[in-house]
Amino acid sequence: LDISRFSAEELVEMIGSQDISCEDYIVSIFESIAKHDRNTHAYLALKEDQALEQARTIDKKARSKEKLGKLAGLGIAIKDNICTKGLATTCASKMLKDFIAPYDATIIERIKAEDAIILGKTNMDEFAMGNTTASSFFGPTFNPWMEGYSPGGSSGGSAVAVSAGMATLALGEDTGGSIRCPASFCSIVGLKPTYGLVSRYGLIAYGNSLEQIGPMTKRVSDCALLLGVIAGRDSKDSTSVDRERTNYEKNLNKDTRGLKVGVPKEFLEEGTSEDVRRTFWRAMEKFEEFGVRWEEITMPSLRYALATYYIIAMAEASSNLARYDGVRYGLSSGRIELDWNEAYSRVRSEGFGSEVKRRIMLGTFVLSAGYFEAYYLKAQRVRALLRRDFEHTLKSFDLIAGPTMPILPPKLGVKLTPLQEYRIDINTVPANLTGLPAISIPCGFVNGLPIGLQLMSSYFGEELLLRVANSYESATDHHRLSFSLR
Ligand code: GLN
Repeated sequence: LDISRFSAEELVEMIGSQDISCEDYIVSIFESIAKHDRNTHAYLALKEDQALEQARTIDKKARSKEKLGKLAGLGIAIKDNICTKGLATTCASKMLKDFIAPYDATIIERIKAEDAIILGKTNMDEFAMGNTTASSFFGPTFNPWMEGYSPGGSSGGSAVAVSAGMATLALGEDTGGSIRCPASFCSIVGLKPTYGLVSRYGLIAYGNSLEQIGPMTKRVSDCALLLGVIAGRDSKDSTSVDRERTNYEKNLNKDTRGLKVGVPKEFLEEGTSEDVRRTFWRAMEKFEEFGVRWEEITMPSLRYALATYYIIAMAEASSNLARYDGVRYGLSSGRIELDWNEAYSRVRSEGFGSEVKRRIMLGTFVLSAGYFEAYYLKAQRVRALLRRDFEHTLKSFDLIAGPTMPILPPKLGVKLTPLQEYRIDINTVPANLTGLPAISIPCGFVNGLPIGLQLMSSYFGEELLLRVANSYESATDHHRLSFSLR
């Protein structure tokens, strides 16, 4: 059974009517995992036995015509910073390598209630800080499209699981691009929802004011299906917004004619590779075929987005990660005779990798007396400016587009300076700073390496984003191609 031939909706239907058994479908996923996970290292933990048992239960229910959930039987991979009861939730860090989550994140409860089958936990950059998966304590994930290349990060494992047929659906988290970057580099769909649309309860925090959990899927319709399940107010997350539930699939095929897209020239400035630029413009031409017009615009405040993001993200990280003290959570020094300061710094020196430490130090610096005004406060002001700029632009345009990533997937193992690495987040961080929704969709390949296109829209404009993404997908073949690794 080649699961990638079917949409999630088709699979749910086929399982419900028992045209295929859920057990066969799950078995075939684990066959793909046995074949490809060795070369890609997408998963950190698998739960095959439970998944099979659950599949048999679903088959039984389907046969006796019991009502099944919206995700009935679908195999889903979960990024390892989302708490899943009874399973290790490590954030790909030595600090949490033995941490078993004692409860389910709200979104895990929601997907379970709709009968999804959790396959396992996926690899990521340590504490979601990075865009390659190279900082994972457990070693990197590899891109299934080309040997030796990064799948992007930080939700690299989730992207690869979907891309290589090792899961039908996946969940990632996006603080500054961690869903969209790997989606782009692995030729799948990845959506960062509007801030507040999806509950963060049970997500291990990195940058609270920036991050959202979101779907990563092969097709736009799968993304719509999963978003509909995870979205919605949660009393356990005070930042989640109370809105009427939307059926994102209902209007996917609605007309897109007459819509207007703005393409800020700042999204394609120096640092953007010629290959990416060419592929992006070719994709934009395609938009005209389904009646979407576009125009080049300028949004000067975008030039400050990257610096603003890294100041705020590091400040929040330094405060969030203070809780790993070796007593309440995580690694323990096991030496009760040490005094507090010594025990605290010892456990943190040992438990955190170098990128995490760099960010804690820089974050502490920008928050410290004397520097707070110069860095953190100024960054918050620029953030407000950026938000205003986007709100203004979105009055004249329905959508804003650009390449998701300015470069092709990078080779793993090539040493970059931190600044070089941060720079490739240039087009993804504005959505996090403003809280706006953004989606990355496959838009082509150069030399066998995938390229993604990013669309942004107004607050809670997910329906529109998905509709336009779906029109583009229907007009192209990128989602039908298969990866090349053997
Ligand atoms: N690369 C960005 C960072 O390291 C994004 C991370 C994320 O979205 N989790 O901060």
